[in-house]
Formats: sequence, C-alpha cells, structure tokens
Amino acid sequence: MFRLPVSGLAVVLRQPTGIEDVLLLEAPGCDTTLALRLVSRLASCIDGSVTDWGALTVTDLDVLLLRLRQRVFGDVIRTDVPCPVKDCGARIDVSFRIEDFLAHHAPRRPRGVDVTEESGWFRLREQGILFRLPSSADQAAVAGLAQPERELIRRCVRPAELSARWLKRVEGAMDALAPSFSHLQGECLECRARLDIDFDVQQFVLRELRDQAAFLYQDVHLLARYYHWAEEKILELPRYRRSHYADRLLQERRQY
Ligand SMILES: [Zn+2]
Repeated sequence: MFRLPVSGLAVVLRQPTGIEDVLLLEAPGCDTTLALRLVSRLASCIDGSVTDWGALTVTDLDVLLLRLRQRVFGDVIRTDVPCPVKDCGARIDVSFRIEDFLAHHAPRRPRGVDVTEESGWFRLREQGILFRLPSSADQAAVAGLAQPERELIRRCVRPAELSARWLKRVEGAMDALAPSFSHLQGECLECRARLDIDFDVQQFVLRELRDQAAFLYQDVHLLARYYHWAEEKILELPRYRRSHYADRLLQERRQY
C-alpha cells in the first residue's frame, strides 16, 4: 500500500497478467490513454472511493506508474540519453532511485494560494485568479492538439486570458501543488555540461512494460504446447509466474 502525493489516496497495485500484456502490445501508442487503461486495471483504492482514475492529476498518474515499475522491475532506473550540446552528442548515463525521485518531488502548497469552496479549484489570493490542477483526462484530451498548452489553460484557469507574468505564477503554483516528474539533472562526462534532461514517465514506464510484454507470445506458445493449457487461462497468470514456467520449459528443451 502507498499514498498518492496529491490526492492523498491510499492505493494498492496488483502485478500485471497476460491480459495487461495484450493491452500493452496492442495499444496504438505509449500515451496517457494507455497509462489510464493500465492503471484502472491494476490499481485499487483501499477505501474503494476511486473509480475514475482520469480525474487524478498527472502527478498522481505518474506516481502510480513509477510504483508499478518499482514492483515489476525494481527501484533503480537506468537509462541513457544523447547529450544535447551542439557537436557533442555523447551518451549520458542517467541512473536514479524511484524512492529518492518521489521524495524529491513532494508536493507543497505555496504561499498566497487558497483552496476554494469549489472542489479541486484554488485561488491566487492577491490576483483572484482561479485554477485547478490538470487531470490525466485533461492530458489525454489535449494530446495531439496543435496547441495543447493553450487548451489546458482554457480548461484549468479562470480567466483563461492572462498576461505572461500571471500565467507564470499560476504555473509555478500548479507545479508546487502537483510537481512534474518531467526533468532529470545530469552531467555529460564528455563535455562537462550540466544538463536538464527531459524525462517522460509515462512513455518510459509503458515502453519498458511493453518490451517485457513481448515475451507473451512465446510464453503462451510454450505453455499451451507442453501443458495443454488454454490461452485464456495462461493470460490470467501473473506475468512473473508465466515467465517462470516458460523459462523451465526452455531450460528443459536445451537439455535434450
Ligand atoms: Zn556533452
């Protein structure tokens, strides 16, 4: 059990089965829509209160994915990105612990921001500007639009027409209340540049899960062939158990 940082909800996750693997493999893209479909299958709220995961903030959805990643693959994320400095392009190794990453991005209520009577809405006290935190459903809805940020502002800020200065204040308040996980700090060992690296939690975790899901076809084939289990029964097994059986069969086959 763990708590989501923004909503405070207590949540449990179950391990993915072959049914989620099929979902990952057949989805058109590793995006918010897929993240929501996956989470709504694997997560449950301890008090049973959440049925619409799309209403959660993007921060909470990202945390659900990171917690899922932690359970399936462990706490340490290792990846590498190309150095963006012109004429460098060296691969930069990035490695961090999910637990530390989450602790570093704990939400806080900034000064001058009040909660309003309207559920989910806040007010910048001095300017009287109202805003709410973008939900995962908002993010899914604006993805692919020509100006996704403008549409998010139209949905989440009142009035939506603001000067760049006030908009920056609203965005700063949103980021404090629901921190974004989209940046990592790194250093290029080649050119010594200190870098702010873009990191897309949803894409990263969904791709990792999808890559692992690709073993599904081989697993189903082996278990159906040697144990004569039906496909639907195999799909219901947790992924780790299905892989154990399949590995045993592969080992045995190698011995003969
Ligand atoms: Zn570099």
